[in-house]
Amino acid sequence: MKTKTVAIATLGTVAAIALGYAFYFDQKRRNDPEFRRKLKREKKKSAKKAKMSAENIKQKVSETLEAGLEAVNEETFPTSVEDKEKFFMAQISAGETLCAQGEEHYFEAAMCFFRAQKVYPSPVELIMIYQKTVPEPVFQLVVGMMTLEHQKRQDGFYESFPPEDMHVKIGDIEEGQNGEGQTVLRKGLVATQDFEEGDVIFVEEPIVSALNSQLEGGDFCNYCLKHITADKVECANCNQVVFCSQSCYEKANEEYHQFLCTNNKTKDDASSQEQAFLDFSKEKNVKYPYLIARFLATMVHDEIEKAKSGVTDGYSSWDHVDRFRYLELTPTPQNLKELSLIKELLGPKVTGVDEFLTEERFLMLKGKILFNAYSVQSISKGDKEIEKSTELHRESLPDQLSVGSALYRATTYLSHSCEPNTQIEFADKSHSLTVKAAKPIKKGEELRTSYIQLEDKNTEQRRNQLAELFQFKCVCSKCETD
Ligand SMILES: [Zn+2]
Ligand SMILES: [Zn+2]
Ligand SMILES: [Zn+2]
Repeated sequence: MKTKTVAIATLGTVAAIALGYAFYFDQKRRNDPEFRRKLKREKKKSAKKAKMSAENIKQKVSETLEAGLEAVNEETFPTSVEDKEKFFMAQISAGETLCAQGEEHYFEAAMCFFRAQKVYPSPVELIMIYQKTVPEPVFQLVVGMMTLEHQKRQDGFYESFPPEDMHVKIGDIEEGQNGEGQTVLRKGLVATQDFEEGDVIFVEEPIVSALNSQLEGGDFCNYCLKHITADKVECANCNQVVFCSQSCYEKANEEYHQFLCTNNKTKDDASSQEQAFLDFSKEKNVKYPYLIARFLATMVHDEIEKAKSGVTDGYSSWDHVDRFRYLELTPTPQNLKELSLIKELLGPKVTGVDEFLTEERFLMLKGKILFNAYSVQSISKGDKEIEKSTELHRESLPDQLSVGSALYRATTYLSHSCEPNTQIEFADKSHSLTVKAAKPIKKGEELRTSYIQLEDKNTEQRRNQLAELFQFKCVCSKCETD
């Protein structure tokens, strides 16, 4: 603790000296013409020095914060609500006492407020309280530690994802230059080993998926989207959805169906929000409102599981989706209608949905789904007649029917190519997605898929379709050489 306190004290002294000097400097500059001339000569020299000293200060602050963050993160935190509350109160009171003891205790005080923040359910709200109640330097230290922690978490994401056994990593790929001549980087999926044509690269379960609304309640599983050929499992409370197995039913209920069930078997209330939501989806033949509602419910489920296990690190579904690219959407009447239906559906059951789901965030979430969702093409055309949904998704298999859409963690990072080196399959006829090598692939090579059905479209047709649907100009090797 000693060294950290010293570092902070040193910083304070440096700042005080700098201020005093600036004042003296300003007086001189105004009154002495000789000094002014000298000043110009000195300016160049000192600019370099000043920069170094500012960096020095910055470096010291960041070392101090780093040390504080490390120390706090080695501690264990209470998990039960009762213990959290006790811990929170104790830290706040210790922090206040330390603040009152003077500047040399500011760092320790900040550590207390930072610890308290770790068990508080809504850290952002707490920060606003701190800003009004805690001395400014202490507040800056707390914010500094929070920022550093957030930054570390952000930086660590692509180190822990995808896991090694997926045989891919997410890399920065150069894609031309922007108007100012700077290299444009985008994220892409890169092979971490060689593959032969036909090799399975990885199989992935979605973050969330949804059936084409026309198929809901028929012979397709509401959870895994599988075509049910044996016995169906029905929901105990509604007759609107079916499942391929007891396990799919249980998972669906736990993750989202408990919030979306119309309960029309047990409740005699045909005008419920749940029913209105279902009717809207069927009438408009859309599945994305359900996909979004399920995603929000899944987020809540993630948080509950996290709280139960007491594990606060690790990345949630939101951490994944937050990093996805998205299409810019405008608040059309249909989009706004979907937003209000989702709010009416989840608002009464999930605390915080109203605040979280602003118009802006909703449009972004939908824009992410539109750009990144894959069509689940699990049955042959001709096996089923369904009206195609007009919602956008990546769809590449010309002979397979789309039964729904799903959003994936890693497959999302596959870039488009009109001459792809991978092929997507739904091998077990559910929403489990398999990425296979369509040609030999070398370690370090970028993996690409096609977002559209290529068939025998020419370059202009492909480019037009991609530009219209996905809002980009294809510059893949095939398009560039044709
Ligand atoms: Zn299933
Ligand atoms: Zn139900
Ligand atoms: Zn192309």
